[in-house]
Amino acid sequence: MNTVDEKLQSILATVVHRNAGEPEFHQAAREVLESLGRVIARNPEYSADALIERICEPERQIIFRVPWIDDNNEVQINRGFRVQFNSALGPYKGGIRFHPSVNVGIIKFLGFEQTFKNALTGMPIGGGKGGSDFDPKGRSDREIMRFCQSFMIELHRHIGEYVDVPAGDIGVGAREIGYMFGMYKRLNNRFEAGVLTGKGLVYGGSRARKEATGFGTVFFVRSMLALKGTDFDGKRCVVSGSGNVAIYAMEKVLSLGGKVIACSDSGGYVVDENGIDLDLIKQIKEVKRGRISEYVALKGDGCSYVKAGSIWDVPCDIALPCATQNELHGGDAKTLIENGVIAVAEGANMPCTPEAVQMFKQAGTLFAPGKAANAGGVATSALEMQQNASRDSWSFAKTESRLEEIMINIHDACNETAEEYGAPGDYVLGANIAGFVRVAEAMRAMGVI
Ligand code: GLU
Repeated sequence: MNTVDEKLQSILATVVHRNAGEPEFHQAAREVLESLGRVIARNPEYSADALIERICEPERQIIFRVPWIDDNNEVQINRGFRVQFNSALGPYKGGIRFHPSVNVGIIKFLGFEQTFKNALTGMPIGGGKGGSDFDPKGRSDREIMRFCQSFMIELHRHIGEYVDVPAGDIGVGAREIGYMFGMYKRLNNRFEAGVLTGKGLVYGGSRARKEATGFGTVFFVRSMLALKGTDFDGKRCVVSGSGNVAIYAMEKVLSLGGKVIACSDSGGYVVDENGIDLDLIKQIKEVKRGRISEYVALKGDGCSYVKAGSIWDVPCDIALPCATQNELHGGDAKTLIENGVIAVAEGANMPCTPEAVQMFKQAGTLFAPGKAANAGGVATSALEMQQNASRDSWSFAKTESRLEEIMINIHDACNETAEEYGAPGDYVLGANIAGFVRVAEAMRAMGVI
């Protein structure tokens, strides 16, 4: 090991030590730090003044109590989080996640990833993330509203158009953003449209924001395939998840001529060799807020529901993990590779374990890391902020074409950076270095703060 790698390993050991019991954050930090050896060897100034140590330490971490009253008149207590990770490039920006698995380590990993992802978009946004261990599953609309209001009663003092701009993530969509925006507006007596993104269209939301993460992931894959002289036409695709990211990834795959064979939710997966009926999935998930197991009864013959087991057992050319962190393990990667997968792109944040990523790399599978492949969502949030700032509202076509352009730029930046640093085709290295360099340049300019 050379001295640069030794230094990075020692920084990582400190990160692990002072963030004990936060394995997802360690995993995200390890992946980035292990990519930085070459860039720091070439530019020692990036590790001067403890810049790497500072980049691994959130600027601010807020943890708060969220009391609320359920439909049975019982008082419930949840924990709320906002980790304001890095504001070198702009106001903190990143989603809010409502899921029982949420803890400070999960939010920290997401905020860390977000910092580099946001840098890759080329937009003026820093990195942050928030959420709660609140479980929205099975809760009534009124319960969701009361929870969102209580959450915002605390959060409002920490955010603002020029301070920190939250959005959605798992468990938080337009409905929740609406309730939170309403309470923010009431508390501040200010219609500050740019304080949240992912808003409804009628009160300052952006067209194509809902579709952006999934569309963007598929645009990224299209660029990877194009470099290899191929495209989506006739390709078998498997997409895990059936939330916002998965649904619109499927939609774009279909419009580019691909075939979607399977998708999932936390209960299991459906396989439909005739091609997944996306309108039916939308009906089940977006309208009824139901379970994917309902698909088979509604669709009829030719499809099946698998309750236990892994969706990655379904043979495919392109795999898009769009559900959650660490959902695709080494064993799944082995199966996918044996089945001849060409490309894997992370629509979710960190869905592939480090072992799986390593296996794809060794097998020569095209692999797009989440911080590049799923950056289209937050990039379109930045476009929403632009529209809010100029009191404008763009057409779907204009917004989607900006998104497309941004995804092509991110793809090219990752690819060119990987080549520049002697690792052609390594999108993980390319994304980590390209994102890091932008944040590091801004931090250096601002001195030790
Ligand atoms: N939660 C999304 C992400 O992981 C979007 C964040 C945003 O739009 O601010 O990037």
